[in-house]
Amino acid sequence: MNFADPIDEAAEREQQMIEVALANRPKPTIEFTGKCHFCEETISKGSYCDTFCRDDHEKELWAQRQRRVA
Ligand SMILES: [Zn+2]
Repeated sequence: MNFADPIDEAAEREQQMIEVALANRPKPTIEFTGKCHFCEETISKGSYCDTFCRDDHEKELWAQRQRRVA
């Protein structure tokens, strides 16, 4: 008997990839430089000027990680 449904298997694999990606996400240990790490706008605190830059930068880092693994 074979329980492996191709669609379920693909979905499960995708879920695992997401979990691994989340587990491997870089920790927020970026030093304060006075500039947004994504667009280099001057900021007074934190690492990014807004959450969009943080999200975009995290996506970029994640994409770089995926390319390295693949
Ligand atoms: Zn920014």
